[in-house]
Amino acid sequence: MPEPAALGSGSLVIASNRLPFDYERGPHGLTRRPSSGGMASALDPVLRKRGGGWVGWPGSGVRPGDDVEAPGDPYRVIPIHLDAEEVERYYRDFSNRCLWPLFHSLPGRTAFDADCWNVYRRVNARFAEALLCEVNDRSLLWVHDYHLMLVPELVRSARPQRTSAFFLHVPFPSYDLFTLLPRHEDLLRGVLGSQLVGFQTRGCVKNFLDCAERCLDTAVDRESQRVMFEGRSIRVGAFPIGIDYSRFEAYALNAPPRVERHQRVILGADRLDYTKGISQRIQAMERLLVLHPEHLERVTLVQIAVPSRCQVVEYQDLKCEIDELVGRVNGRFASASWSPIQYLYRSFDHDQLAGLYRDADVALITPLRDGMNLVAKEFVACQVDDPGVLVLSRFAGAADGMAEALLVNPYDLDGTAEALHQALCMDESERQRRMTALRVREAEHDVHAWVDALLRSAAESRRG
Ligand code: UDP
Repeated sequence: MPEPAALGSGSLVIASNRLPFDYERGPHGLTRRPSSGGMASALDPVLRKRGGGWVGWPGSGVRPGDDVEAPGDPYRVIPIHLDAEEVERYYRDFSNRCLWPLFHSLPGRTAFDADCWNVYRRVNARFAEALLCEVNDRSLLWVHDYHLMLVPELVRSARPQRTSAFFLHVPFPSYDLFTLLPRHEDLLRGVLGSQLVGFQTRGCVKNFLDCAERCLDTAVDRESQRVMFEGRSIRVGAFPIGIDYSRFEAYALNAPPRVERHQRVILGADRLDYTKGISQRIQAMERLLVLHPEHLERVTLVQIAVPSRCQVVEYQDLKCEIDELVGRVNGRFASASWSPIQYLYRSFDHDQLAGLYRDADVALITPLRDGMNLVAKEFVACQVDDPGVLVLSRFAGAADGMAEALLVNPYDLDGTAEALHQALCMDESERQRRMTALRVREAEHDVHAWVDALLRSAAESRRG
């Protein structure tokens, strides 16, 4: 595998909704620490080598004029400050109440209005302007995710010679769903300003090619995965993201020894988001105890729910719904010494999480729809001891490359309960066989390989 520096030369300038740092204001001013995401840590060495910059929102706690850079930063950190209206309309409304549910195949939760669309356009234009200030003829721009879908075309129309790549981290929906969105053609045109458009799965690529062909009446070559649009040929491809595998494996090896418990553990870990299927999962646990009462007193579902988007009313409602469900199921089955569900409404650091992953007997990861789902991959990387079993939604992008997991339909509560029963009863040799195959694949296709694959394709599409 070539060194990242060889994957096309010239600086790399990244745009994503958030900068790769978490900022906090204390008595001595602003402090920053790298965000814990794998993508930020994988791109950091590439940026160090090639030089360039990262354009993004530093969060509401940072004010214009604050210094977001640190002495000796090897690349530029360019903040896009958002005012209160922009946070509300661009981020909460258009990105997270319109695009997020629709792209996760939940159109009933989607809310659109023309005003939030206008603010989305305005903020995207600010990102494009900031990018244009940072690039030179040899730079590669890499634009990330659904918050910034108009940026590639805004950049291209200002400077047609600039090379950009776009990657969508969330699913891209089918034609029938996508076209429910007013202004969907503008989003397609926006993305097609790039020379390379990347998605998590082949299913997303297919959906995008269908939409480009039917909405823009443009020619599409499915064999070579190209869209011919306004005299340009745009490469489209699947680049499934991986995790920082060796970091998670090391955390698991170094985590404190397992605490002996009387029950076997089924682990769920998600942001508290309606796409994650947490309510259905709790009901599937309930069905397990009804269908297979031999697990009563012997198994506990440990569900971590990380507080998320707490100002949005749909997320507040979901929190109430899950609180009630947990109460109902625990009330129905608990004894003096055991509860079927242990519900942790908080966030854990990766090193703590790695110990929980390692010691779980089963990971129950059942999103209703997910771009990839990194938790599934992190669980696998952490199986350094007695291997556990992964029960995974077939609607997670991760399922495409994880055939050895037990794949379930999260809407099918009894089917999920039966998969859980199978996981709890699986003998060691089968657990070992399945987990070894999963681990080999995830170690190879880690986040560094993902960055390399995308940059290599971007360099190829630049050459023609
Ligand atoms: N995560 C975490 N602490 C927790 C639970 C989860 O840091 O207590 C992290 C987890 O390690 C993973 C990310 O949150 O990297 C969730 O990523 P995923 O792709 O599964 O879902 P997303 O939240 O991006 O939709």
